[in-house]
Amino acid sequence: MILATDLDGTFLAGSDEQKQELYQKFFLDQYLSLVFVSGRGLASILPLFEMASMPRPHFIICDVGATVVKGDSLEAVEPLQSLIEERWPGKESVTQALADIKGLQPQEVPQQRRCSYFYNNTTDIDALKLRVQQLGCDLILSAGKFADVLPTGINKGFSLQRLAKQFLFATDKILVAGDTFNDLSLFNTGYKGVVVGNAEPGLRDATAALHTIYHAREEGAGGILEAMQHFDLPGIPQK
Ligand SMILES: [Mg+2]
Repeated sequence: MILATDLDGTFLAGSDEQKQELYQKFFLDQYLSLVFVSGRGLASILPLFEMASMPRPHFIICDVGATVVKGDSLEAVEPLQSLIEERWPGKESVTQALADIKGLQPQEVPQQRRCSYFYNNTTDIDALKLRVQQLGCDLILSAGKFADVLPTGINKGFSLQRLAKQFLFATDKILVAGDTFNDLSLFNTGYKGVVVGNAEPGLRDATAALHTIYHAREEGAGGILEAMQHFDLPGIPQK
């Protein structure tokens, strides 16, 4: 099985016991593979590996899909990374084009090939959408406050599918996991998926009709464990 999981609110959420049970599986079972698929920039993912209990993923998709690296060497996965780069107009063009949109605050976090903002109820969403479209980029709004500007066609699902194709993942053995709207593209891949118990309501609604998706009761890591059981995906029991 290949777990392709979001981090915040998903792999990093749930009780300490649930996290321990889930993380341990990746040390014990060589047939379990892990891919991180996060909105974080790479620089904010690396400190996680200082925790001895944190398994090392085979691949890291970060920046909401705009960065794809190998988990051990942190080398860019080519030609995917260059394809994404070609579609990115650059931070300066994006910053300039969105400078006069009200209520838009840049997120001061490490980021590459995307620009992330906070928005609020004063933000003119239609104007924002239009500007982003004129830039030849995509806009993803999530959790009622995050606005990500991404290279056109690039999102978590796109990069995961490209990775799956290039490295010949058995697609019926992939389980995707997430909790907010920037994970929707993962659920639209057609792979098996779990929307964890603490997910934003909009994501639950948007995935309600997808028969490949399991809606878990448990939060974060607990929801992933619940889904592995539901789909009868392999994993050595703890005891
Ligand atoms: Mg999340």
